Amino acid sequence: MFYYYDPTFLLVIIGLLISGAASAYVNSTFNKFDKIRSAKNVTGTAAAQFILSDSGITDVVVQPISGRMTDNYNAQNKTLNLSESTANSPSVAAIGVAAHECGHAVQDQVDYLPMRIRHAIVPIANIGSTISIPLILIGVLISWNQTLINIGIFAFSLALLFQLVTLPVEFDASRRAVKILAAGDLLTPEEVPMVKKVLFAAALTYVAAALSTFLQLLRLVILFGGNRRND
Ligand SMILES: [Zn+2]
Repeated sequence: MFYYYDPTFLLVIIGLLISGAASAYVNSTFNKFDKIRSAKNVTGTAAAQFILSDSGITDVVVQPISGRMTDNYNAQNKTLNLSESTANSPSVAAIGVAAHECGHAVQDQVDYLPMRIRHAIVPIANIGSTISIPLILIGVLISWNQTLINIGIFAFSLALLFQLVTLPVEFDASRRAVKILAAGDLLTPEEVPMVKKVLFAAALTYVAAALSTFLQLLRLVILFGGNRRND
């Protein structure tokens, strides 16, 4: 494999390590606080339904989905999807995750600008990440066509842009969740800091993903960015 004599492959490995560490951290944090039953004993589903109605959101359906940590809010069909580990669990972690997804529903309700921007760039980011590597490879094969290679690198950077725009959306959803939970209807004051830890660990995975994509972009720039044809 050509990786053996490509030192920039180290950047990819660093990215994988960062992502792996973030994912291990969110898993262990979630597991820790998933074992703590909330004093008020409400499930993720009940918490989500309470928060939505308390926020005056009546057009969003809370439903269970399969998988673990697959929780998401879908703005297109107005569904708040809670994974099995969240939906039926009365743990502090489950309530935190459910409240975070409600945070996204509230963002949608108030037309939170970063969420709109994120939504708008999804298609171009998808196209960008699909065509970038093929474009770079074709550019290299066609006697190092730098224009084609640069377009490929630019396309890849759109994927990074998407991940960067995701960050404020995720942090804001958690901020809204903590604020709602701190009101005291669903959690005791002692439980709020636990939720903060779970949501902080979850946010780190998005930072790690963006960092990892940045390192991959850096690698592409180092390998193909300049006109390096010297044969
Ligand atoms: Zn989120």
